[in-house]
Amino acid sequence: MEWEIVIGLETHAQLSTKSKIFSASSTAFGAEPNTQASAIDMALPGTLPVFNGAAADKAIRFALAVDATITPYSVFARKNYFYPDLPKNYQTSQFDLPVVQGGKIHFFVGETEHTVNLTRAHLEEDAGKSLHENFTGPHGESSTGIDLNRAGTPLLEIVSEPEMRSAAEAVAYARALHSLVVWLGICDGNMQEGSFRCDANVSVRPKGQTELGTRCELKNINSFRFLERAINYEARRQIELIEDGGKVTQETRLYDADLDETRSMRTKEDANDYRYFSDPDQAPLYIGPDWIAQVKADMPELPAQKRARFESELGLGAYDANQLTVSREIATFFENTVAALNHQHAKLAANWIITDLNAVLNREELDITQSKIQPQQLAKLIARIADNTISNKMAREVFAAMWDGEHEADADQIIEKRGLKQISDTGAIEAMVDEVIAANPAIVEQYRAGRDKAFNSLVGQVMKAARGKANPQQVTDMLKAKLD
Ligand code: ADP
Ligand code: MG
Repeated sequence: MEWEIVIGLETHAQLSTKSKIFSASSTAFGAEPNTQASAIDMALPGTLPVFNGAAADKAIRFALAVDATITPYSVFARKNYFYPDLPKNYQTSQFDLPVVQGGKIHFFVGETEHTVNLTRAHLEEDAGKSLHENFTGPHGESSTGIDLNRAGTPLLEIVSEPEMRSAAEAVAYARALHSLVVWLGICDGNMQEGSFRCDANVSVRPKGQTELGTRCELKNINSFRFLERAINYEARRQIELIEDGGKVTQETRLYDADLDETRSMRTKEDANDYRYFSDPDQAPLYIGPDWIAQVKADMPELPAQKRARFESELGLGAYDANQLTVSREIATFFENTVAALNHQHAKLAANWIITDLNAVLNREELDITQSKIQPQQLAKLIARIADNTISNKMAREVFAAMWDGEHEADADQIIEKRGLKQISDTGAIEAMVDEVIAANPAIVEQYRAGRDKAFNSLVGQVMKAARGKANPQQVTDMLKAKLD
């Protein structure tokens, strides 16, 4: 039997506001436990929450970026449950009238473009944290501590439709969403600190069946790598279970990265178990055209707009344009490089950034803002490839030299110092071509008999004679002219 995996993601993006969603407490990460939890965050009697408009600004930004509908009057609701890290005994969230409805995320899996529809995105507050590990009580006993600093931190929960069909696709979606919220400046995207968290809903069904299978929700996933592994593990588990005659029960499962497995945490609550009701402490959140226009006015150029411009103005393909807009920093690096080239050779610049530069950055685990080669330097190198001073192969050597400590020097100096200049003297190349033809009558014969390999061997020999410094295209042209 062939199986199909179905995935929908619920992503919590912590909105980067200075203060909490309903109080003036700071949202800064890493403070001493409980130093940033106010009476309002704990809903002590006599307190009233006041909504922080900066959280709505960010939700509007998101809605505009994904082409969603902004609900004019969205409603805060209480989601009731007990847990030690939730002193209010309810989480203030949104239920049937979320602030953002619909929208689309576009992304690439390899070189294929995909679109996933969003169901909704709603504003809510985060809960506190239980500290189970490395926590000792006042008398040295092992205990669990509660840190309420995070309680009341604004979140945007972004819910996708169950439209993804593989772990790789889910990861590509999550990466695209991550880069979008960081690009928009609404979330710092720090996954270690929990600023961007994904829960994956996974089910399986026989290929061809339209009805969805029973899903499990996977929690505790704090990296893209674990997201991929958790989904693959879970899909395999469900398939084996069904093939052995069992049934999947809808439940919440925890991903254990050390064991690379998921295990049952609790059976899944239904929405009505939470006794949602609209929060009497909050008026509906009204977002009118003026507010939307104001947010629109200071939106940065969106990745999709930049992509379109890279394609239409600079002639890049969709894949390159996408690679160059995964972050604002990469886009800026590319734009500065192309500007230094007077808007010529954009394709060449794109190639160098996407392949060579990315490779060293990955190898040394650096961000593009930490690149040891600056756009102006790269532009000079590209100009020398474009005007045929150096071959691509030589350019790699210059690039490596710039990167490894010679970054004071510019491309021209390195080319000069290392004698990497291509032989531009046509006469010198012609002499080498003649020599190779004369020395290899058998291979010349094979070429004339129609064997392409023979021709490549002749080009190779001329290049060897030129110690790699001839322009391969020029050699090819000259050989062809002489032989045909
Ligand atoms: P909740 O998990 O809070 O109960 P929903 O029922 O709206 O919320 O679903 C949450 C997520 O689960 C969504 O991302 C949705 O796409 C996904 N989902 C729903 N049904 C399935 C299914 N059968 N298989 C995989 N994902 C699903
Ligand atoms: Mg859920």
